[in-house]
This record gives sequence, structure tokens and C-alpha cells, in this order.
Amino acid sequence: MDPVTPARLSLNTATVREQWNLRECIEGCARHGIGGISPWRDKLAECGVDEAARLIADHGLTVTGLCRGGLFPAADAAGRQAALDDNRRALDEALALGARCLILVAGGLPEGSKDIADARAQVRDGIAALLDHARPAGMPLAIEPLHPMYAAGRACVNTLKQANDLCDALGQGVGVAVDVYHVWWDPELEYEILRAGKDRLLAFHVCDWLEPTRDMLLDRGMMGDGVVDIPRIRGWMEAAGYHGFAEVEIFSAETWWKKPADEVLATCVERLSFV
Ligand code: ZN
Repeated sequence: MDPVTPARLSLNTATVREQWNLRECIEGCARHGIGGISPWRDKLAECGVDEAARLIADHGLTVTGLCRGGLFPAADAAGRQAALDDNRRALDEALALGARCLILVAGGLPEGSKDIADARAQVRDGIAALLDHARPAGMPLAIEPLHPMYAAGRACVNTLKQANDLCDALGQGVGVAVDVYHVWWDPELEYEILRAGKDRLLAFHVCDWLEPTRDMLLDRGMMGDGVVDIPRIRGWMEAAGYHGFAEVEIFSAETWWKKPADEVLATCVERLSFV
């Protein structure tokens, strides 16, 4: 397996979201030889989509994904429509940036609901409705399963098997994003990565799982600092035909968000030996 070079590394802007705006992220990637970027929509809105597209092109970066669409379940029809409208805007932004995919985080239980099966059905229907627009536009939708600790609040799609089953049900135009933080523990991971195969594997997100983890959202580790055997998972991705970017995505309120962003990017590049 070839090592990941900085040119095949992508910066998810969440990694330095407290330090840098999108322009600084783009310029930082160029400075560190990092070849890809994956913006979050709040950073994108701040910068402006046209300006962001221009800056990204000027610096020769690949947009490995736009974060994020999804959050489909809602308590009523108006809520579901609002979610779909926002997803249409996200789709337009992904197209304007020439992103490789639009990342979808499913969404959790609507307020007051205890019906996770219904939430999951709403996710399926929401993606199907968005696909009607994404498919003709040629923008792949990447379902990112999230660790089950987020099932209530953020995402009721929690395993790669679930995401693959959704892809089977929905047909062309939808694939998966494999984020090691969310799926590293899954005994079926290797099988499900191979099942997804080249066409469905749209993104590969890396960071590490710290033991102990002090916060369920904001305590992700830098590659090499935790318990995830990332090269093994990347080996499965490559065996399945994925040869795209490794995108570093670290939410770390107490550690990495407190360091100078240039130091964070330099560390990401140094730690590629753990990817
Ligand atoms: Zn991710």
C-alpha cells in the first residue's frame, strides 16, 4: 500500500474551525502542500460561494466533499420541506464548488419522538427526494454513518451496513462516506467496505478515537494518538477500489482547536504515516 502523500490529503475545515476562515484554510492547504479541502457550509457562507470557488481553483485544490446536507427527519411536513429546501441549496453549493460529493448526515429523532424506525424511513424518503435533483445534476450524495452515540440527536444511520442498504434501496447517485471515527469498532466494517465497492466509496475521513474520550463530540484525536488502526481500514478501502483522498476531520475543543492552525496542519502532514 502506498503512503498517503500530502497531495492526497484533504483538510476538512472543522479541523481548524476555531482558528481560520475558509480563505485562510485554502491558503494554509497550499502552504503545506495539502491537495484537497472539504468546507463546512458555515465557512462557505461567510466567504461567499463564488469567491470560495475562485480561491479554491486559484490554489489548485480538489474539493473532496461539502459538509453537509441531510438532517432530514422532522415532526411535520413543513419541517421536512424546509429540510429538503436547505438540502437543495447545499446541492447547488456543492455543484458551484465542483465538489466530489455532498456529505449527508442523516438527522436524528424529531422533537418528542421515540420512533427511530420512522426517523429512518424519513431519511430514506428525504434522500430519495434530494436524489431527484442530485442525479440529473451529476452530484453524488455520500451517506455518512455516524457512531451510534449520535443516533438520537444527529444521525439515525449508524453503520456502514445501514448506509449500504440505503444505497441498494435508492439506486444510482448515492454512495457512502467512511469516517474511521464513526465505524472503526464495527465487526462488519471490512465486509461492508468491500460490499460498497469502488463506485459507492465516495470519501474517507480520518482522525483517531482517544481512550478515554472526554467529550462525545469535541474530543477527537489526531491520527496516531488513539486506538484506530487506520492503515488497516485504508487497506480495505483500497482493496475495494478507493484511491481517493484521506480527509482529516478533527473536532477537538481542548487540544487541536487551541493550537496555531499552521502547527495543526504540519502535524496532520507528519502523521500521514499513521493513515
Ligand atoms: Zn466525517
